[in-house]
This record gives sequence, C-alpha cells and structure tokens, in this order.
Amino acid sequence: MRIYNSLTRKTDIFKPINPPKVGMYTCGPTVHDYQHIGNFRTMILSDFLYRTLVANNYQVKSVRNITDIDDKIIKKAKEKNLPIEIFTKEYTQAFIEDLGKLNILPTSISPKATKYIEQMIKYIEELVKKGLAYVERDGSVYFDISKFPCYGKLSDLNGRTLKTGTRILSDEYSKDDAQDFALWKAAAQDEVGWSSPWGKGRPGWHIECSVMSQQHLGDTFDIHVGGIDLLFPHHENEIAQSEGKTGKPFVKYFIHGEHLLVNGTKMSKSLNNFYTLKDLVGKGFDPLAFRYLVLTAHYRDKLNFTWESLTAAQNALENLREKIRGWKHAGNGLCGYYHEFIEAVNNDLNTPQAVAVMWKMVKAKKPVSAKAATLLQMDQILGLNIEKYLDRKLNIPPEIQELIRQRDVARKNKNFRLADQFRIKIQKQGYRVTDLEDKTRVVKR
Ligand SMILES: [Zn+2]
Repeated sequence: MRIYNSLTRKTDIFKPINPPKVGMYTCGPTVHDYQHIGNFRTMILSDFLYRTLVANNYQVKSVRNITDIDDKIIKKAKEKNLPIEIFTKEYTQAFIEDLGKLNILPTSISPKATKYIEQMIKYIEELVKKGLAYVERDGSVYFDISKFPCYGKLSDLNGRTLKTGTRILSDEYSKDDAQDFALWKAAAQDEVGWSSPWGKGRPGWHIECSVMSQQHLGDTFDIHVGGIDLLFPHHENEIAQSEGKTGKPFVKYFIHGEHLLVNGTKMSKSLNNFYTLKDLVGKGFDPLAFRYLVLTAHYRDKLNFTWESLTAAQNALENLREKIRGWKHAGNGLCGYYHEFIEAVNNDLNTPQAVAVMWKMVKAKKPVSAKAATLLQMDQILGLNIEKYLDRKLNIPPEIQELIRQRDVARKNKNFRLADQFRIKIQKQGYRVTDLEDKTRVVKR
C-alpha cells in the first residue's frame, strides 16, 4: 500500500510501526453547528482509508474525536442560554446520524474533549516543567515555539514568519504567522471553565487532539488524518506539543484531504453556498450519491461541488443499482478485476480509478453471479451499500406505475410543469425519482 505523506511530501510505502496493528486518528468536528459537506468529504476519506487498511488485513484501531469545547461553542451556548453539554448534544447527535447516512463505519473510540480535561492539565504541566510552555499573568498558558527546534517540519512554514514572543489566544488562528499558541486559556469566574493550577480556564484546541490521540494510540502512532486546512497551524502545533513532551516522533503518516469547493469558491455562510447533508436530502438526493461523488475525485484534488455534479453522481449510482438489481451472488468472484481494483485503492487511494474498475467489471461479459460476488467484495471498500440491491426485485405498485407513465407522457410533450407535479406526487408516496433521457426511474426510499 502506498500513501502520500504530508510529512515527507511524497508517496510512501505504508509500513505500520507494529504490524498487523495500525493506529489511526482523525480530527473530528467542532460541534457548534451542523457539519457542512466539506467536513464530510474528510470523513469519507478517513472511512475509505480505514476500509482499505482492513482489506489489507490490518487490525485498525481508529479514533475520531468530538471537539465539544471552543470559543464558538461557548459564545453560541451563551446566546442560547444553554449549558454547553446541552448545546453540543444536538449537533453531536446530528453528526453521528449523518455519518450513518453516508455509510461511514463507526470508529473504535470517539472521545469528547470535555472528558479529558484532567489529562490535558497534566500534559500542559509537563510542557511547563520542560520549559516548552510559559504561564502568563492572567493564568493562560502558551507553548513557546522558539523552544521547539523542529517547529515547521510539517508545513515548512510556507513563507510564514516565525514570530516568537507574540501570542494567539483565539481559536480562530491566523494562517499568516507562526506564533506561540494557547494551551490553556484563562476564564473569568462567570465563564465556562475548569479549575487548574493556573486558575480557572479551559484547554486550547490543539492540545485536545494531542491528548486524545496519544491517550488511545500511544506516544507514537501510524496515521493522522484531517482536512488540508488543519495542516497549519493545528497539526504543526500538535506535533510541537507531542514531540516536545515525549521526545519521540508523534505520527508516522500525516494524510490530508483537499477542499471541497462549491461552484468553484470556498464554502461560506456569507456566500450562501454552505450546505449540510440535510440540504442535499431536502432536495431529494440520496446521501450515498454524495459519497459516490466524493469517490469520483482523488482526495488530494479539489472537488468542485455543483448540483449538476451531484445529479450526475446520483444518476450513476441509480444506474448501478438498476444494472445489478436481482443479481444473485454465488461462488468465486472475478480475481482479475478485484486485483485491479485493490491495486487502484492501494495506490494512494485512487478512488476514481477504483470506481472505473468497478464499472468495467459490472459491464463485463461474465456470469452475473461472479460479478455480484466481486461487487460485494469491492463494496466493502467503496461503502455504497450495494448489497441491498442484489437479489431484489423492484416492486412498484400499479398506481405508482400509472403516475410514472403519465409523467413520461408529460415529459415527452415537454409539459414540465405537469411532469413536476407528478414527480412530487410520486415522491410523497415514498419514492425517489430520477430522470433518465427517455423515462422516469423510481426507487423506494
Ligand atoms: Zn485535531
């Protein structure tokens, strides 16, 4: 297996520290809102990597955290007059439900930052003791980046100025400069906080991930996954804290997923192009169509999300389901195709290539039972939940079939308003409607 490692800036052969065991940490969401589809692109990458490792017979312990304490959470919870654990509960729950809809497998452990405050305090104490961190008069503790000689080894600082003696307290980090960063933030008496040797306060964002990852995976572990925007300063700071504390390498492979763009621009609430999975489902899309769309792009390439591209992904997925509907899987699979598929995923997770091989196999002139068996194997990694379409007959009741027929007539006559009315009627009966060139395709939701 080969994978691009941001630490070495090249595609490396994957060699775990303690095979067949693999430890893997993914930076999870900050639960101050519903997660946008860009976050889920990273979660799909992490899931795909996990499934690939399992297919390569590794025993994977995977950890993905929940950041349930930060500036935004505190501010928003205060506005709503809710305790933070109540405020974050809704978004944490929604995140977990969305993962399920995207067929993302559960991780071994999903730690919440607020459950590790004691460990974080101990960790910071050690950094202070080692002279890598200093306490300010207000009771905040900062990491002194000038004391960690390897600072910048992940990001190469990319032209950023290394500013020593200047500090960053906020969770909204400047990407322009490298500065000392807060490990512990002093809090006023009426603010959210925990007591510590430095007074009441709360942990900084970076320390949370160092503590939760090392707690479950050890001082040095194999893989750390996150979105490319986390490379600096988040992951750079995690390395500084962790290696500063233990004197050992923190992570062997850092893997970063590229951005998801919407109509060619960065997603933001102010541009009104900020989408959640709920928005996609509300427009009649299957969450797995989004998964399919993500798989059609390589994780190190930017993915431009448009409604057209999502529609195309949904059509492709529906086509696949139609094509294989009722196939009975039996006997051995088609080894040649499966090997070609595995080669693609093992080559730096080349998902577009893997999807292409899957299609080539589906369309090949081979017995369907063998094709179905191979497809099931491939889907262990693709995660498109294809199994439920095999061996299944489509049972559309006559009244729905009549609506479909009338809709097709309306479309043929270019009466699109009428066709739309029929579509809504069919959807209300619990079916999903897709337009093919000459007919309407309907599947049960
Ligand atoms: Zn993190």
